[in-house]
Amino acid sequence: ELDLPRPQNRRIMTVANQKGGVGKTTSTVNLAAGLAIHGLKVLVIDLDPQGNASTALGVEHRAGTPSIYEVLLGETSIADAAAQSTQSANLWCVPATIDLAGSEIELVTMVAREGRLKEALNSEAVNELGYDYVFVDCPPSLGLLTVNALVAAHEVLIPIQCEYYALEGLGQLLRNIELVQSHLNPALWVSTILLTMYDGRTKLADQVTAEVRDHFGDLALRTVIPRSVKISEAPGFGQTVLTYDPGSRGSMSYLDAAREIAERGVERTSA
Ligand code: ADP
Ligand code: MG
Repeated sequence: ELDLPRPQNRRIMTVANQKGGVGKTTSTVNLAAGLAIHGLKVLVIDLDPQGNASTALGVEHRAGTPSIYEVLLGETSIADAAAQSTQSANLWCVPATIDLAGSEIELVTMVAREGRLKEALNSEAVNELGYDYVFVDCPPSLGLLTVNALVAAHEVLIPIQCEYYALEGLGQLLRNIELVQSHLNPALWVSTILLTMYDGRTKLADQVTAEVRDHFGDLALRTVIPRSVKISEAPGFGQTVLTYDPGSRGSMSYLDAAREIAERGVERTSA
């Protein structure tokens, strides 16, 4: 049942932060599931050789499985590589296999190396699949895979962990986004900041939250994702927290965040 606004045009959101362990993959899969459960059609592109997003979505990603690696090489299409997630009939994933690990180097010598994901997404076959949202889960680096994700997207979602040094390295990420904006993708913008792993018992978490809101204003979602054992357990069962423990605080918070993204997206396009 659709009680979230459907975007007029497909929204492509790249989830990026070159720091590892800040909640990129967790946020990608749970936000995607949150939108899909409400009836929107969502594609997750796993761009991290670790394949953690594929795991959490219950999608096969053994070496040799048709994956984003073959898509970037031009050997297969997104339409052919996308597999249905066990988590929702509306949720699809182009998996990453370990083959992707060498691609940062292989891509260097390729024609139009920064635009290969964009080109793959711009096909008629993908259009016909009617995705409302595409989320791209980036690896923890600012290499060619992340550049491909930034070139292909309209929006960047940056997860920020409520921890020591949360804002460290963000300047570098923002400068890279500006470079992509000015040379390759003028329409790109940072639309969403999501605070993750918030621990209400610590003063530090509140300090980081205040600092991020001060710096990014309304770009930061009102919803903050709590630190929750359920969230971290779910991928071990090939699940998102939304199916692993639907009533948990972690699940509710990702549903709230997904709703905010859907609602503010429409506000902005109609403004
Ligand atoms: P990234 O993709 O940025 O490297 P992950 O999403 O993989 O980060 O998260 C890093 C680790 O933290 C994972 O083990 C994940 O299960 C855990 N984690 C993420 N978000 C939460 C949370 N809100 N509460 C508890 N653990 C979390
Ligand atoms: Mg990850």
